Amino acid sequence: MRYELMLPHQIRKAIAENWPVALPLGVLEYHGEHMAVGMDTLAVIKMLELFEKERDIVILPPFYYGAASYAVAAPEGSGSVQVGGNALASFGEELFYSLLRIGFRNIHAIIHHQTENFAAGMPTDLAFKTAGRQAIFRFLEKERGEGWWGSEAMASYYAEHAEGGNFFNWVQVHPLMSAAMKYPFDHAGIGETSLMLALCPEAVDASHFEDNKSWYTATAKDASAELGQKGVAMIMDHLRATLLA
Ligand SMILES: [Zn+2]
Repeated sequence: MRYELMLPHQIRKAIAENWPVALPLGVLEYHGEHMAVGMDTLAVIKMLELFEKERDIVILPPFYYGAASYAVAAPEGSGSVQVGGNALASFGEELFYSLLRIGFRNIHAIIHHQTENFAAGMPTDLAFKTAGRQAIFRFLEKERGEGWWGSEAMASYYAEHAEGGNFFNWVQVHPLMSAAMKYPFDHAGIGETSLMLALCPEAVDASHFEDNKSWYTATAKDASAELGQKGVAMIMDHLRATLLA
């Protein structure tokens, strides 16, 4: 369900049944002359909408204003929007803390932008990972008081941790595509363009392929919805493994 359309009794049901609460996290960034600047975020939104057809899930309003960076293109006339990681971390902490206060304990931010180095991290995902950790510590301290971890009630912490019970899993950040996925990973090339043709064809205009001059868009003209559908199937498997109720 889309969070903004939920009634309080539906929110309470989602909390009681521990539904995954997913934040589509992304950027607005130049993706060549042939594709929309929202590509990275649109891919996450459209995939979560497909996932929702088979599982109970809360989809939060998307956050588009991540750290696109100007690595691909200067912003003038290109459309890239850059908000730095430090600002994102403080915003993200407030957002996650608020979601914890509501009662959600199964929160996931899903990101596609700059995720080829996800283990090491990039500014947007690192900021939201930091935000999640900060929010969890702040929430636990408010709820349980200082010294909560050292208290006798926590004596079984490591045993429960080993069994998977871990409040640091309350907020997680995941890439839309796993590193193991056999799908072309690129920026505005055949991989991303095919994905958009499959998920959101209005974000691609083939009549502008020939306006592209950059190396990273050279393969875009070979994109197809068929290839994109293969990516969609792989991402669905990845989401099934990642977003467990
Ligand atoms: Zn992209």
